[in-house]
Amino acid sequence: MGEIINVSKIVECKKVELKERVNLLKQKGIIPKLAVISANHDEASKSYIRNKRKMCEELGLSQEEYVLREDITLNEVLKLVSSLNNDKSVHAILLQLPIYSHLDENKILMEISPKKDVDGFHPLNLGKLLIGTQGIIPCTPKGIITILDSLNIDYAGKVAVVVGRSKIVGKPVSQLLLNKDCTVITCHSKTNDLKQYTKMADILVVATGIPHLITSDMVKENSIIIDVGINRVNGKIVGDVDTQEVLKKVKYITPVPKGVGLTTVLSLMENVVYMAESF
Ligand code: NDP
Repeated sequence: MGEIINVSKIVECKKVELKERVNLLKQKGIIPKLAVISANHDEASKSYIRNKRKMCEELGLSQEEYVLREDITLNEVLKLVSSLNNDKSVHAILLQLPIYSHLDENKILMEISPKKDVDGFHPLNLGKLLIGTQGIIPCTPKGIITILDSLNIDYAGKVAVVVGRSKIVGKPVSQLLLNKDCTVITCHSKTNDLKQYTKMADILVVATGIPHLITSDMVKENSIIIDVGINRVNGKIVGDVDTQEVLKKVKYITPVPKGVGLTTVLSLMENVVYMAESF
């Protein structure tokens, strides 16, 4: 029988380190500040923003929210981003996705200064990730590595299979695992016979948004499973992995809820603090 990773405990330990860094900044008169732009009516987004606000308060970070009206033009949003880029009290800017469909997400993300791009989606930060130099790492992938690091894994030569290739999870986490010397296979909706790859995985990261896509016959004995999915089924939140069945076969698995989602918010806070430190 495997173990469900206690992600809450990992996050609590990391918060202690982070509070110390925030205190050091405060002694220098710097309060790390995050600006959040939201342009949607999405309930899940509102809940993410509430969680972010709560952790900002807990760690002593400042957060300012810009809730945009539905008829806002792209030019007005770009002007707001530009003023936040020039505001010296703001260290980090977050565009809460999704946004109203008439706005061009990529144009707005490109406008955010790479130095304030807390999600690490600007091409400059993604390029740094590709070449393996220090930049801002997207929050969910960074959080996944925090969880894996806490298990003291020797990454070199491990087969890591990532199911999903989105720009916010699948692609960056594949790159991070490659940078850590894993042998990486990235699967997606056009992959033929998914099971033949997932069964090879020492580390399996699943980010598809398909409830219980991964069943116990698809995983390797003693492997590590990171379930990124957050799906609502019959009023319950479930992941992309059939946790209870898979648990009987693997070494470790992350829970859903209270799994990767917790480290995503933690990584965001880490990125804000890092940006304030390097301002
Ligand atoms: P996207 O919808 O952007 O991407 C889903 C990916 O899954 C795509 O690459 C898609 O392939 C692939 N996929 C779909 N169906 C299959 C299939 N049958 N077999 C293999 N691959 C498949 O989702 P996100 O990456 O944004 O999110 C994925 C999940 O993670 C969602 O449940 C989301 O809610 C959750 N999430 C959780 C976070 C957290 O903090 N815990 C943060 C972000 C997301 P293709 O590219 O070919 O379409």
